[in-house]
Amino acid sequence: MSETATMNKETRGFQSEVKQLLHLMIHSLYSNKEIFLRELISNASDAADKLRFKALSNPELYQGDADLGVKLSFDADANTITVSDNGIGMSRDDVIENLGTIAKSGTAEFFSKLSEDQTKDSQLIGQFGVGFYSAFIVADAVTVRTRAAGVPAEDAVQWYSKGEGEYTIETIKKESRGTDIILHLREEGKEFLSEWRLRDVISKYSDHISIPVYLEVAEKDDEGKETGEKKWEQVNKAQALWTRSKSEITDEEYQEFYKHITHDYADSLIWSHNRVEGKNDYTSLLYIPAKAPWDMFNREHKHGLKLYVQRVFIMDDAAQFMPNYLRFVRGLIDSNDLPLNVSREILQDNKVTSSLRSALTKRALTMLESLAKKDADKYLAFWKEFGLVLKEGPAEDFSNKEKIAGLMRFASTHEETSEEKVSLADYVSRMKEGQDKIYYLTADSYKAAKNSPHLEQFRSKGIEVLLLSDRIDEWMMNYLTEFDGKSFQLITKAGLDLSKFEDEQEKEKHKEVEEEFKSVAERIKTYLGDRVKDVRTTFKLATTPAVLVTDDFEMGTQMAKLLAAAGQEAPEVKYIFEINPEHPMVTRMADEPDEEAFGRWVEVLFGQAMLAERGSMEDPSEFLSAVNQLLVKA
Ligand code: ADP
Repeated sequence: MSETATMNKETRGFQSEVKQLLHLMIHSLYSNKEIFLRELISNASDAADKLRFKALSNPELYQGDADLGVKLSFDADANTITVSDNGIGMSRDDVIENLGTIAKSGTAEFFSKLSEDQTKDSQLIGQFGVGFYSAFIVADAVTVRTRAAGVPAEDAVQWYSKGEGEYTIETIKKESRGTDIILHLREEGKEFLSEWRLRDVISKYSDHISIPVYLEVAEKDDEGKETGEKKWEQVNKAQALWTRSKSEITDEEYQEFYKHITHDYADSLIWSHNRVEGKNDYTSLLYIPAKAPWDMFNREHKHGLKLYVQRVFIMDDAAQFMPNYLRFVRGLIDSNDLPLNVSREILQDNKVTSSLRSALTKRALTMLESLAKKDADKYLAFWKEFGLVLKEGPAEDFSNKEKIAGLMRFASTHEETSEEKVSLADYVSRMKEGQDKIYYLTADSYKAAKNSPHLEQFRSKGIEVLLLSDRIDEWMMNYLTEFDGKSFQLITKAGLDLSKFEDEQEKEKHKEVEEEFKSVAERIKTYLGDRVKDVRTTFKLATTPAVLVTDDFEMGTQMAKLLAAAGQEAPEVKYIFEINPEHPMVTRMADEPDEEAFGRWVEVLFGQAMLAERGSMEDPSEFLSAVNQLLVKA
């Protein structure tokens, strides 16, 4: 080793998240050891992609001089496997950044959620993305020798680690561009020191990759005897999967390719592969993952498609091709219309981009629609993972409103479960004769919605109501205004009118009682003053004496709560107090001649209605004292 190399050698500690990741990786993925090959080949193929891309603007880096490829060899005596590529390579800073830290925000939080349950952890790790560190599943030490494109041979870098707490890094001389990864196998990794085993695994994981993958094998003579020489044998087809015709690609190949581009550990749920010619000329391959990524609601969550132009890789995470509410869609787009020198800035307001974006959006929505039709259970599994994201759709994408609405699933009074299962099409098909609105209720929880007094008349009339209790629902319903020509109606609004479901006799009777109760309503209103907007009789209740509703264009309870939770100043909700004239507590109150006692009754009924509506009240002491006085009297 030269003097400069020694001077340059330093030992550095891993970021603590890396230590945790390594530990978990070794302990939870040992049952699927071979994936380290997929990950390392995948990285090598990315490195070739990146070199080609960089050479577009800086041709000295690569002029097609040598074919880009990956070479795998093993040494049974030394117990090593080496994966070499002639791709972009890494500088010293790159190595420290890429192989010593995890640059994703929220990682520490993610790890804090891990348990000691290893089957569960392997799923979580899969969602996290397995990557380079998977080498330590089979190796108890790893050496990385890498020389970045455009850098002199003397400025190459060597990284070495036992995967415990630290690694060393030093400057070395490396004759060729690219990266060698040398795995010093642990006992459990020795099964890979075999030609047929490696060939088997490599072909499984690399057929769909566009660069050739070679395995070093023993040369044999005509009689099949080893000559003692070695030769490179190409193991994969080396044709990018998406350029092949659909009919030739097996499901397993699609799934392997999915894992190659996402580093996901699990299979995807579904995919859609399309070649389009005409106004736009492109190929797209879109996947829906089975599990939501751990950081889907993290602001810095990277998403988007891999972008290729005429088969040349351009960038990862091109977010411009998918709206935000479909940020869980993974995959790639290979365009023949965009220029090769396209940058994120150019993509930003580009005609081709926006027309591709709308085509791909439709494609993704259609893929979900057909899944819902074909396999309801699988669709519900999708909805459970990604429904909350899709609920951002109506606000973000006006042009696909109807399609998005069709994909929504809700809890409803038709089912006895909090699971969101009911589609709007189901709801519409069950609508009563004469019903022209889709009724819904928003509340803090499914239980609160299900037990709401506002549902009483709907139950007695057999009209279905959707029960919404996700935090986003109230906001979403501002944008989801119609489905199949029917408008939505929040049932806690004063404008709610179910009289068309009543017969003439009922209507007549209600009119009479309302007339009778006019003076009582006036009396209550005088007592409550500006604590309410109005007082009315209602016939929609059965077992509840009174409720609070809001006028159609006033802010409702859930919206006010939402604003308050977001730290915004919300104007006070102006409630209309509705009393049930058929309830014994109300008739008892109406008969009370003494003004003071009457006031106590009002306090009790109003307080109860407030509790049912908001889950809290401004001044509980007033309410409690009224209750106690009534109890003493009784
Ligand atoms: P990921 O590939 O998901 O980003 P990895 O842990 O596999 O995560 O790799 C981290 C980073 O290290 C990669 O993003 C890449 O920049 C770099 N890297 C890994 N392997 C190679 C390689 N063979 N050549 C060049 N860079 C590499």
